[in-house]
Amino acid sequence: MIKVENLSKQFDDVEVLKSISLEIEKGEVVSIIGPSGSGKTTLLRCLNLLETPSRGSLQINDVHVTFTGKTPSKKQKIDIRQFSGMVFQHFHLFPHKTVIENIIEAPLVVQKRNKQDLVREAEGLLQKVGLLDHKNQYPEQLSGGQKQRAAIARILALKPDLLLFDEPTSALDPELVGEVLTVIKELALEGQTMVIVTHEMDFAREVSDRVIFIADGHIVEQGKPEDIFKAPTEERTQKFLQKVL
Ligand code: ATP
Repeated sequence: MIKVENLSKQFDDVEVLKSISLEIEKGEVVSIIGPSGSGKTTLLRCLNLLETPSRGSLQINDVHVTFTGKTPSKKQKIDIRQFSGMVFQHFHLFPHKTVIENIIEAPLVVQKRNKQDLVREAEGLLQKVGLLDHKNQYPEQLSGGQKQRAAIARILALKPDLLLFDEPTSALDPELVGEVLTVIKELALEGQTMVIVTHEMDFAREVSDRVIFIADGHIVEQGKPEDIFKAPTEERTQKFLQKVL
C-alpha cells in the first residue's frame, strides 16, 4: 500500500532523514518511536507531502512520486493526499465552526458530497468517538481530549485509506490521554491502516503490528512490539528504551 524508497529530507544543510526505506501493508498499524529531534514527525509529514522530501520516492496505492529537489506539483499533492489524513498534536479544528460543521466541511467543499448524507455520517462518527452530545458545540467549549476526538472524526469523514497521527496525545492533560488512545485502538481493531508517531510506549506496544525505532534520521531497528520492547538488538534502541520505559 505504501512504499518509501531511499527517502531523504534536508532542512538547509542539515539532513534530518537519511535514506529511509519502508513498506506498509494495508491494515497495518505502525508506530514510530525515537528520541526528540530524530526525524519522526518529518517522516510522517513527508508521507502526505506536508514536507517535500529532498530525494527518494513515495508510492501510495497506484500513485508514485519521485523527488528530485523540486516542489511536487499541485496534482501530485492532491493525488497522494486523496489516500491519507493527518491528525495533529494541536487538533487544527476550525474555531468558528461547530463540531459537526468541522466534520462535514471537507467532504462538503472538497468532495462536493450531499449535505444530508454527510450530516448522517458525521453523527455516526460522533457516536463512535463519544461526542454526539457535543455536536453543536464550538471547539473552545471542548476539553483537549474531546477536541482530539473531534479531529479524528473529522479525518474519518474523508474515509482515508491511511491515517497519520503526529503525537496525538502529547498536548493533552494526562487524564485525557486514555480517551483518545481508546478511539485509536478501536480503529486499529477495525483494520484501519495507521502510522503513529508517539511517545506513549505502552500504547505503541499494545496497538502496533510493527514498531519502528528512528534515531538521527535513520531507521535503526524495526519489528514486532514484543521484540522491540523486550529484546531490542541494537544498542541505540536499548539505550533509548532504558531511558523511557
Ligand atoms: P520530537 O519527538 O521532539 O517531536 P521528532 O523526532 O519528531 O522530534 P522532527 O520534528 O522530525 O523530530 O525534527 C527533526 C529535525 O529536523 C530537528 O532537528 C528539527 O529541529 C528539524 N526540523 C524540523 N522541521 C524543520 C523545519 N521546518 N525547518 C528546519 N528544521 C526543521
